[in-house]
Amino acid sequence: MLRVSEPILGAEERSALVDVIDSGWITMGPRVEAFEAAFARAHDASHAIAVNSCTSGLHLSLAALGIGPGDEVLVPSLTFVATANSILYTGATPVFVDIASLEMPLLCAADAAAKVTPRTKAVLLVHFAGYVLDRELWTAFAREHDLILIEDAAHAAGVRSAGTFGAAAIFSFYGNKNMTTAEGGMILVADESLAERMRRLRAHGLTSTGYERMAVRASTYDVPMLGFNYRMDELRAALGMVQLRSLFDWNEKRRRLTQAYHEILRAQGDTVVLPFAREFGARGVESSHHILPVLLPPDAPRPAVMRRMIEDEIQTTIHYPPCHHLSYYERTLPGILLPKTEEFGRRELTLPLYPGMTIDDVERVCVSLQGAVRYARHEA
Ligand SMILES: *Cc1c(COP(=O)(O)O)cnc(C)c1O
Repeated sequence: MLRVSEPILGAEERSALVDVIDSGWITMGPRVEAFEAAFARAHDASHAIAVNSCTSGLHLSLAALGIGPGDEVLVPSLTFVATANSILYTGATPVFVDIASLEMPLLCAADAAAKVTPRTKAVLLVHFAGYVLDRELWTAFAREHDLILIEDAAHAAGVRSAGTFGAAAIFSFYGNKNMTTAEGGMILVADESLAERMRRLRAHGLTSTGYERMAVRASTYDVPMLGFNYRMDELRAALGMVQLRSLFDWNEKRRRLTQAYHEILRAQGDTVVLPFAREFGARGVESSHHILPVLLPPDAPRPAVMRRMIEDEIQTTIHYPPCHHLSYYERTLPGILLPKTEEFGRRELTLPLYPGMTIDDVERVCVSLQGAVRYARHEA
């Protein structure tokens, strides 16, 4: 079975974990610090704060930036539910914004502008599929409306421009992301005092960490603020250090596989619509090529296509069922209409993409997809 994504884990990861166990210190300590420094360096960022997931990093960032009850945060509905959930955790309200188009499924600036109210405090951008949003456009947008910019960069590890325009950018190291620590995340921030505040909030609001007290850098502590336990541990940091060394090579492999997909699917004609076809390889558009989304023709039912491809031993998934249509959100925030997001969510199919794949695998997926679309149209 060709899976949609597959992590690359080997002897180096295994020996890094053994080293941590042999060291006798497994919770947040020097390896987490080293991983933060390496990740910040790789992204030309000033400060990095490692956390136990991207979701907790999103919540931590919103909380540290003072977002809370009564505030509204503009956010795409075409994202993983964690993005919107993190806004609800603070007591603020997510205001869902449509995508620009089916071909360019990133946040629509015109729809965002139409949804700004006196309560709007921030925009939570998502670099969907790893394609980084237009930095100039969104920094100007934030300035004009006096809003805080935050980046959900879960898809965009290894893209240098990700993390450069938000007050905070949050990356994910979940098992299906471009690099993994099983569970884990990282926040990049430019502002030093914000970074310091985030470090404290990450560990219960304590004025010193367990490792610092163990190393007798502090004998007691105070708790001047309400914090969380969102710490990363040494095992995950050790995995992250190893994975980070391959990240740029892996992203380059993803780019080459994406290019092969685009060439083969374009040669097939009208089997599917290819989002980001114009952006792919265009000057100034950066991507980590996290996933390969396509849009099925409206007359080819998706369940039939997916079933047919499983028979060819090819797994596919959906990115994403729109957040505003998930039953919890329909119940709590009813009556939202986002025509482009809804059509995208209805027709989208995610094809396998990971650095361990070959061009032959890509060819096999495209042939299977073409046959499955023909079959599904016939069935419909
Ligand atoms: C994976 C993902 C998250 C959540 O990341 P975790 O590390 O699993 O908490 C958030 N946003 C997006 C867009 C994601 O893809």
